[in-house]
Amino acid sequence: MNEFDFIDSLRQRANSRKHSARVLTGIGDDASIIAQSADRDLIVTTDLLVEGVDFHRGATPARLLGHKALAVSLSDIAAMGARPFWSFLSIGMPRAEWTTNFKDDFFEGYFALADRFGVTLSGGDVSETKQGIVIDSIVLGEVKSGAAVKRSDARPGDQIYVTGNLGGAAAGLKLIENGARVKQESGVRSQESERGSSPTVREGVITETLAQASGLTDEPQSRSDEDSIQSLLLCQLQPSPRVGWGIVLGEEALATAMIDISDGLSSDLNHLCRESNAGALIDSSSIPLDDDVKRLCGRRALDALALALHGGEDFELLFTVAPENVSRLPKRVDGVAISHIGEITDAARTIRIRERDRIWDLQAQGFSHFKD
Ligand code: ADP
Ligand code: MG
Repeated sequence: MNEFDFIDSLRQRANSRKHSARVLTGIGDDASIIAQSADRDLIVTTDLLVEGVDFHRGATPARLLGHKALAVSLSDIAAMGARPFWSFLSIGMPRAEWTTNFKDDFFEGYFALADRFGVTLSGGDVSETKQGIVIDSIVLGEVKSGAAVKRSDARPGDQIYVTGNLGGAAAGLKLIENGARVKQESGVRSQESERGSSPTVREGVITETLAQASGLTDEPQSRSDEDSIQSLLLCQLQPSPRVGWGIVLGEEALATAMIDISDGLSSDLNHLCRESNAGALIDSSSIPLDDDVKRLCGRRALDALALALHGGEDFELLFTVAPENVSRLPKRVDGVAISHIGEITDAARTIRIRERDRIWDLQAQGFSHFKD
């Protein structure tokens, strides 16, 4: 039984004993939808981050961990087309960590992102652990009644879009696993620094040894190789939740269905299609690849498209739009563009990908806990 089978069983158990009719959507979407008043619904999401599994302590500066803890939950709120307002953060850490700067740096990163989106930390809990850091991040948001965008309302003929670029976070993880480290004092990507358009990594110094160890690049002879590596590390360590896009797509009633890409495009498109009882046909040439991934992968036999399809944690939004609304879509929100990657079909649960003149079945190969 993998993570998703277990969640399915929990969902059945919870639905069979539902004590509140105000839970409009419980288990099964990016966040729950709870009727709050006559005109507002509350949107609630929770995410667990465990040291050694969801992050590698040695490769993750505390400030970036604080950022990411909030970012992953903001991303789920965005995926519901909602506006975030309140957050709760519980953290457990070993005594050895308690006596360092870790907690101050963690909350510096956390509050910086919360301030950017006007989110108020409203509670939490602190505990000591015997081993490793554990973080539980909760964010609450709001929508007008009935306006939340679920995973389940995509219809055949709807057009499929994705925000930003894909593959960067997975490439960053590979770099980390091979010994690359973010330069401590870089680490703050400007608000919407999109890779390629505005490189913001300051003085990206990574030693030749580390970059070579990464296996993603030949000897880093130029500054720009180092910049690319630093930028990819930040895709993994400091993702930008697409809060602005989420709000626009929800409040303008543009998206019929939406999910954030946390497990990987192939898996998350699969979740969306499954919930919508539909299928999808996407075009490989229109999948937006991160520029740095393309550049570094080009040197080795690494497949940038595979990273974009199956690599998780890009925290971009994947959404569908009814044909009659496509012309209403903004080109950019907060400087972030979107790409049209395909169409919803009536072939339930069948996801196919066109690669030049051939069409393949696309298996969900993204991340899952307790996978065989
Ligand atoms: P996401 O990647 O969008 O954060 P997850 O894959 O973590 O979503 O979870 C999918 C769904 O399963 C969500 O609706 C979540 O609330 C639900 N879920 C996950 N774990 C549990 C659990 N332990 N108890 C109840 N619901 C859960
Ligand atoms: Mg999600």
